[in-house]
Amino acid sequence: MKILVAVKRVIDYNVKPRVKSDGSGIDLAGVKMSMNPFDEIAVEEAVRLKEKGAATEVIALSCGVTQCQETLRTAMAIGADRAILVETAVELQPLAVAKLLKAIVDKEQPALVILGKQAIDDDCNQTGQMLAALLDRPQATFASKVEVADGKARVTREVDGGLETLSLTLPAIITTDLRLNEPRYVTLPNIMKAKKKPLEMVKPEALAVDVAPRITTLKVTEPPGRKAGIKVPDVAALVDKLKNEAKVI
Ligand code: AMP
Repeated sequence: MKILVAVKRVIDYNVKPRVKSDGSGIDLAGVKMSMNPFDEIAVEEAVRLKEKGAATEVIALSCGVTQCQETLRTAMAIGADRAILVETAVELQPLAVAKLLKAIVDKEQPALVILGKQAIDDDCNQTGQMLAALLDRPQATFASKVEVADGKARVTREVDGGLETLSLTLPAIITTDLRLNEPRYVTLPNIMKAKKKPLEMVKPEALAVDVAPRITTLKVTEPPGRKAGIKVPDVAALVDKLKNEAKVI
């Protein structure tokens, strides 16, 4: 059984994003980029399934600029067997990524596609769902536990009131939640081994996918800065302010 894992190169989660002065987007110049954290969990899960004998091959796929190769090398250092980069400098929106993923799924025929539940840069939470619709395959989003046996995936999902367990007939699509696993530490020998693993490059045109953006970003703004606090002389003054000024009690 093949597993395809989608990995996106995003601004590192430790970096505080800076909005461009013209409000057209986030300034990425000189900013540290890393694998989307939910995708790291997706790669880890796929590799664990392979280690348990439930899968035979793990393929990592990224869509974007040439530098996404680094993200794919990280996926292979975690344990993916090979990687595919759909290379384009066009700004990719979820529908375009879902169409590119579909084209690769049609070619590779994986029994399972694992994606992150959302990319921490656009926070769209759309790509997995769009891919499931385009492929007309069952999906389980926000997975916190995955078991694969007898042509089925048993997926526990984090929902508002607690946990929900689904049984999906493979082939299927799963998106990962934070508590699914804790990705392993990538060791130096595995980073070295990953350099030798195959990385295939393909262009969207070769897959006959139109990746032109459909949505225009009108404006990006920073959240308003916090106002300076004040000191109150005693608890009575604090309670008075909370009651009469902030009106929170
Ligand atoms: P989103 O719908 O943008 O929040 O992204 C959800 C998931 O789709 C991510 O966690 C990735 O697994 C996958 N994804 C989104 N964009 C890309 C991309 N450019 N390349 C590879 N995977 C992606």
